[in-house]
Amino acid sequence: MTTTPALLPPDIRVFERGWLSSNNVLCLGEQATVIDTGHVKHASETAHRVGAALRGQPLADIAHTHLHSDHCGGTAALQAAHPDARVWVPEPSLPHVQAWDEDRLTFGDTAQRCARFNAQHALVPGQSVRLGARDWQIHAAPGHDALAVLLFEPEHGLLISGDALWEHGVGVIFPQIDGSDDFDTFNDTLALIERLDPRVVIPGHGTPFGRADGGIEAAMARSRARIEQFKAQPAQHALYAAKVLIKYQMLDVEAMPHAEFQRWLDGTRTLHQLHQLHRPDLDWPAWLALVLAPLFGKGVLRRDETLVLDGA
Ligand SMILES: [Zn+2]
Repeated sequence: MTTTPALLPPDIRVFERGWLSSNNVLCLGEQATVIDTGHVKHASETAHRVGAALRGQPLADIAHTHLHSDHCGGTAALQAAHPDARVWVPEPSLPHVQAWDEDRLTFGDTAQRCARFNAQHALVPGQSVRLGARDWQIHAAPGHDALAVLLFEPEHGLLISGDALWEHGVGVIFPQIDGSDDFDTFNDTLALIERLDPRVVIPGHGTPFGRADGGIEAAMARSRARIEQFKAQPAQHALYAAKVLIKYQMLDVEAMPHAEFQRWLDGTRTLHQLHQLHRPDLDWPAWLALVLAPLFGKGVLRRDETLVLDGA
């Protein structure tokens, strides 16, 4: 679905895509731009939607809030359709994209897939970038992802928050899992958003929400409360993250033979880190059984004699 609420000016279109694919934000104007491109599984649909909305206008730019596989999986398909489009990524990621270093791009640790794309331009915090018909401030937004940025357009008060702020819920705090950072960094990014005082937040997942009806304030309060819960019980965050990673994988592949599912679990380094953070007292098979039981019990995943299946 496409968001067209009064919240957004007519040059900004949001394609809402669910969970496996991030939203795609289309900024129309003299430099038509797509920000975040969804998962590779939905890449052809993303390219089709963007092409239809552009009505023959060339796509000038493709930009990314961060390079998780649900935010940059459609970029290769868009580049194929629009070979002259400039591609922007957060500055520290630029050499890793150019070398396609999957470990540094996080696809290795999470055992996720993403189609290789090229990037030539860096989104540098403190600078601004013209995308669509507007000038956007670039701000560092570590927390969910250490290298993430958010884009803020002060004239209309538009904030493209990526996965730094959703209306409901908080994304996995990946830098806490590998020990490179703690939960407070996420809070620092929330404080930054509060200072920017946006009129509208366009999140990476879910519907845009605004300041006028208290939506942003409520979302902020919910996020802060959730982070406080995680700080009080970090093991709960580890369990949440493990469930998210497994569900995400099954949303992508939909079905796997039992042995292949087991190989994916065994080979996913982030899950091993989460095991240590959650219940290091258990051995690996016992821990997996503990994590998987509620997923199967609640129908989030299913299994038959040969396959493990997504329960969606
Ligand atoms: Zn996301």
